[in-house]
Amino acid sequence: MPHDEDVHVAVPGAVLPPNPSLAALAVALKLVDEPKGDWFDVVIVGGGPAGLSAAVYAGTEGLKTLVIEDDVPGGQVGTTTDVANYLGFPDGISGFEIARRALAQAKKYKVCWQPAHQATELRIGDSKKPHEVVVSGAAESKYKAGAVVIASGLKGNTLDGVPGLEALLGRGVYYSALSVDAPETKGDRVAIVGGGNSAGQAALHFAQYAKDVNVWTKYNVTGVKADADKQLTGIELSGMETLDLQHLDARRLYLLLGSKPNVRHPAPGGLGSGPGSCGHRRTLPVHRQVPAPLPVVQARLTGPARPAPRPAPRSATRVREWVIAVKVTHHN
Ligand SMILES: Cc1cc2nc3c(=O)[nH]c(=O)nc-3n(C[C@H](O)[C@H](O)[C@H](O)COP(=O)(O)OP(=O)(O)OC[C@H]3O[C@@H](n4cnc5c(N)ncnc54)[C@H](O)[C@@H]3O)c2cc1C
Repeated sequence: MPHDEDVHVAVPGAVLPPNPSLAALAVALKLVDEPKGDWFDVVIVGGGPAGLSAAVYAGTEGLKTLVIEDDVPGGQVGTTTDVANYLGFPDGISGFEIARRALAQAKKYKVCWQPAHQATELRIGDSKKPHEVVVSGAAESKYKAGAVVIASGLKGNTLDGVPGLEALLGRGVYYSALSVDAPETKGDRVAIVGGGNSAGQAALHFAQYAKDVNVWTKYNVTGVKADADKQLTGIELSGMETLDLQHLDARRLYLLLGSKPNVRHPAPGGLGSGPGSCGHRRTLPVHRQVPAPLPVVQARLTGPARPAPRPAPRSATRVREWVIAVKVTHHN
């Protein structure tokens, strides 16, 4: 019998090619709203807490609104199981639930929602020409917008310069840690590099299953070892003199190294930039062709510096900022 490694997905009423893209799958599952025309009062890039709150407020103001999200709703907060500081939820709420409710609220106000679609380019317009947002998904589309809100959040920092590390991504080395991953660490020795929210939460989840969990707040990893199946078997360390540790036979390494803004800001004295990259995701390039009297609200996202001298951005702050953003765009 031939060995077929292709993934075939059957969705009633849809014909999908083998190994369908996330965008094609989302379209087939009717998760992607079909826009009515290509003009929007507001196009919002990003469906995290900031983007969704901007969408709700734009929708309630009666603005024709489109949200482009290259993944699923919720952004970073969607990865956390317990948000304790969200207004109105004294017993806490999961990030997924915040996102689910926010999306339902936005849709109530007829916001057009396009998950698994990525804004790949923004061309800033002028008084005669609207802004233009290029979107890639199941197909490439271009939308015109009176205002563009960039709520593209943060992108994770990577650990560069460690030989062999990249080849082990997904094979014992990870840049994110979800609570659902915890049972998979059962009996394993786990290493986490990072000292923020993500690292702390991951350590608590994994400690319930793993043989042990080792957390380092500095980048001490200098090398990795793998077995014949190209799975991580160990980590080389340096600068751990106090612990006299040069090697750890960890089978899982989580690099939770903080993040920086997920947008390319125009360079001083000149505007526009080429595509950047972070893992699978391109950083949104912003091109300003002419001075723009039309409002383009750009994320004031100062990634949490590590070690953080100022408070890390919080969901609630993002929500407040983007309510203000929509008010500014609407009244300009
Ligand atoms: C583990 C963890 C726990 C946390 N716990 C809390 C907590 O308890 N309380 C709290 O207040 N905060 C918490 N935070 C912080 C909170 O999640 C963030 O402050 C918040 O998510 C920021 O929202 P945002 O919408 O600005 O950005 P993000 O959440 O980063 O969302 C940005 C979205 O934009 C999308 N995007 C990016 N580029 C593009 C593009 N070109 N095209 C289309 N879409 C794009 C991304 O896919 C993403 O969904 C936590 C964060 C983490 C990681």
